[in-house]
Amino acid sequence: MNIAIVGAGITGITAGFLLSQKGNRVTVYEKENYLGGLASSLRVGNEDLERFYHHFFTNDSYLLSLIDELNIKDRLNWYKPKNAIYIDNSIYPFTTPLDLLYFKPLSFVSRIRMGIMVLASRLISDYSAFETITAKEWIIKNSGQEAWEKIWEPLIKSKFDIDSENISGTWIWNKLKLRSSSRGKNLNNEMLGYLDGSFNKIFKIMAEKIHKADGRILLNNEVTAIIKNENGSFDIMAKNHKSNYDKVLFTGSPNLLENILHGPYDNYKSLLRKIRYKANICAILELSESLSPYYWITVAQDGLPFVLIIEHTNLVGLREYNSHIVYLSRYLDMSDPLYSATEHEIINGFISGLKKVFPKLNQRIIKNITLTRVPFAQPVITPGYSKIIPDIKTPVEGLYLTSMCQIYPEDRGLNYAVRLGRKAANEIMENL
Ligand SMILES: Cc1cc2nc3c(=O)[nH]c(=O)nc-3n(C[C@H](O)[C@H](O)[C@H](O)COP(=O)(O)OP(=O)(O)OC[C@H]3O[C@@H](n4cnc5c(N)ncnc54)[C@H](O)[C@@H]3O)c2cc1C
Repeated sequence: MNIAIVGAGITGITAGFLLSQKGNRVTVYEKENYLGGLASSLRVGNEDLERFYHHFFTNDSYLLSLIDELNIKDRLNWYKPKNAIYIDNSIYPFTTPLDLLYFKPLSFVSRIRMGIMVLASRLISDYSAFETITAKEWIIKNSGQEAWEKIWEPLIKSKFDIDSENISGTWIWNKLKLRSSSRGKNLNNEMLGYLDGSFNKIFKIMAEKIHKADGRILLNNEVTAIIKNENGSFDIMAKNHKSNYDKVLFTGSPNLLENILHGPYDNYKSLLRKIRYKANICAILELSESLSPYYWITVAQDGLPFVLIIEHTNLVGLREYNSHIVYLSRYLDMSDPLYSATEHEIINGFISGLKKVFPKLNQRIIKNITLTRVPFAQPVITPGYSKIIPDIKTPVEGLYLTSMCQIYPEDRGLNYAVRLGRKAANEIMENL
């Protein structure tokens, strides 16, 4: 079978790899001039580094088996992160249950209630009760108003911006469950994984295997139209050339599919329009000095232009980046003027914000800054979300959709993207 895959992120490349190993001729189209989508890398010093900070968890079983299958298990290392929260103009350690117990910005009662809520979420598996309520309602009920206002509201705002009050209880329950389960039996022992050579290693190997199986990966090739023909095949229009395929798998956001799918599929297109996303702006700072001892600092205080300060080299070491690497990240609505501000304005705002957190910061330690923005970084998971998730199999026979928005009740992530890519490849093969 001649199969087109639109998108060379982890979902598309995994599906392409699996389909090509089963004797199908795969062509992957990618809009950008690099592989990897949100998990893509760029060169810093003598190393590849993700454009957006990435690590994985001990319970990321689909990703770990893929790493095994690709024979790169020896490149996988586990690290103990040091986390913190920036609140009330101070940085508080926030890694272990003991940190929560000593966390002064919250009253003792709120700390205890919050600890119980996090632990209890691990024991819950039936999430139907969370489906129709908001995260805010669930948190206030279980941890109280103070914990909501001081900790959870800023955290949820940091992901969903203006939609933070209308996020599903399922999203927060699952986030707590996954994070606390990844610690295993010892709650003090959170371990995060990272691959030597960055996640780019996974993409390079799978791309090589696709090529070896007579497949193609066409970078810098945005698909502008998908047209179903009367004989059941598909025409794909990209960069002014047209090619014909038996099946098509689209792996970008549903709104993008809606824009390029030709034909009278109004009901389907209105379903695709229901899925909304938050954008992300992320800066990589190459510094001559470290900022703090922490890997991950969550900003739980208003008035800063970013919501996370992630010192990657505090997790994985200096390697050959020739610098300390710090990411500053902000999720936001695309309508926010910051999303369309100039690079200069965003960088200036980020540096002023960083000086508020680290008043002694000397700007001379900043050797380089790289800014990336993406419009589709996080689907907005509202109450009742399960009812609006589109299927992998679309109503257009032979056209399939896999997208971050289908990952539920878990939140988007590489592990579930691999699961999705595998599922899509299986579904396509079952229908051949
Ligand atoms: C800031 C940030 C931090 C993250 N951190 C982590 C982490 O620590 N751990 C973790 O597991 N996950 C993390 N994730 C999530 C993870 O990156 C994603 O879940 C995963 O990469 C999604 O892969 P995907 O292939 O589904 O989508 P994408 O990576 O978005 O890939 C879709 C691809 O389709 C291409 N495309 C779209 N339309 C077209 C078109 N018309 N023609 C051609 N190409 C097209 C896009 O350019 C893109 O390359 C993070 C995400 C973000 C934004």
